[in-house]
Amino acid sequence: MKDVIKKYISIFFVLIMVFSMVPQTGFAAAVSTAEFDGVIFDPSTEVWHWPLLSQTKTVTSKFAENRTSWRNPHFHQGIDIGGRNINGVAKVYAARDGVVLEARKGNTFGNYVKIYHGKDKNGKLIISTYMHMYDNSLAVKAGQKVYGGKTVLGKVGNTGSSTGPHLHFQVAKTYSINVANPAHKTYAEVTKNFYNTNVGVMKYVYNSNTSTIVTAEPTATPTPTTSTLKINITSYPTTINQGSSFGLRGNVSSNYKLTSVNGYILSSDGKTIIQGAYDKQNIYNVDIRTSVVNQKLLFDKLSPGSYIYKVTAWDESGANRVWSKPFTVKGKESTLKINITSAPTTIKKGSMFGLRGNVTSNYKLTSVNGYILSSDGKTIIQGAYDKQNIYNVDIRTSVVNQKLLFDKLSRGSYIFKVTAWDESGANKIWSKPFTVK
Ligand SMILES: [Zn+2]
Repeated sequence: MKDVIKKYISIFFVLIMVFSMVPQTGFAAAVSTAEFDGVIFDPSTEVWHWPLLSQTKTVTSKFAENRTSWRNPHFHQGIDIGGRNINGVAKVYAARDGVVLEARKGNTFGNYVKIYHGKDKNGKLIISTYMHMYDNSLAVKAGQKVYGGKTVLGKVGNTGSSTGPHLHFQVAKTYSINVANPAHKTYAEVTKNFYNTNVGVMKYVYNSNTSTIVTAEPTATPTPTTSTLKINITSYPTTINQGSSFGLRGNVSSNYKLTSVNGYILSSDGKTIIQGAYDKQNIYNVDIRTSVVNQKLLFDKLSPGSYIYKVTAWDESGANRVWSKPFTVKGKESTLKINITSAPTTIKKGSMFGLRGNVTSNYKLTSVNGYILSSDGKTIIQGAYDKQNIYNVDIRTSVVNQKLLFDKLSRGSYIFKVTAWDESGANKIWSKPFTVK
């Protein structure tokens, strides 16, 4: 019996010990949070530190990765940070000043630390959690004050629900410090921004639309600020002369970072002739005047014709704009001229007569023709000047003159005619009546 009583007594004590080990919801009350209760999170100045040394910044699992709902128990409420040879080596730092609420081992969290940092303006508590740390590496105790980026909490490990050495880091906001409930809503903006920036010290953007610093529910994500992306071209050509250069003027601006600004010259059927990219990223304003775009799209290399100038712009929000305008490149004005210095008015039958003069142009002459017409306009004799690619035809030495021999004409009234065309498409006609007696 004695043994039986002893046995029950020992079971009783074991039960007392077991109950005393069960986490109590009031546990955190033992920690004085008073020093940080007055810390109100000001999103405009809030700075968080990367919880590992900055060279360890590989995010192996993102916030909310592959999970669609907060109600999904597998929703990833933080970020996982991994790296080579970090198990039991890489130190985990407090991400911000605060007081340690918990520093112990849990089934799921492994060795973890929870830190209270203060409140948001609605009175919600801001708490960061660091999980899966190496056994016996925890370097802080509940109630201890810690300093962002300075106080070592422990070392990266693979304890709890973890498939490889990594730090699970999350920042949550909650109405109460409840040690038994890990499902604090994640302080999404902070955690997401940690993922986005991946740098040692970061600031995150205050959402002026909602005046909040946190979006607890992904569904309540504030509407992103509308992009103000604008292509503002203040000066552009409508008609330019061939060989002239022209610099576009204007700028591209946005409240989001510009990710690409491109300029194009297209043929009138939309094919790209010249393209230039503005290659500087991470800026909010591109001056077209000084951009590479303008330097590459030199107008002086275009031959006469119709074109389209196009500018496209994209920014980080995904917004895009296109600006386009048609323009014409004009050839130089043709100086084509038929200059006949000596022509017959009356000649005797059987006499020869050589015309004198020349045809000139600043464009290459494509055809020069001479004709003798009857008084009713019918062609009697025709001669073509057959040499191309020249700017000046001397009528005296031309084939035209040799073919249009006056000594073959019978008596009557005639018309002498010279026509000329050049490469610009310009044409001229000279004519004069004469009589064969
Ligand atoms: Zn994780």
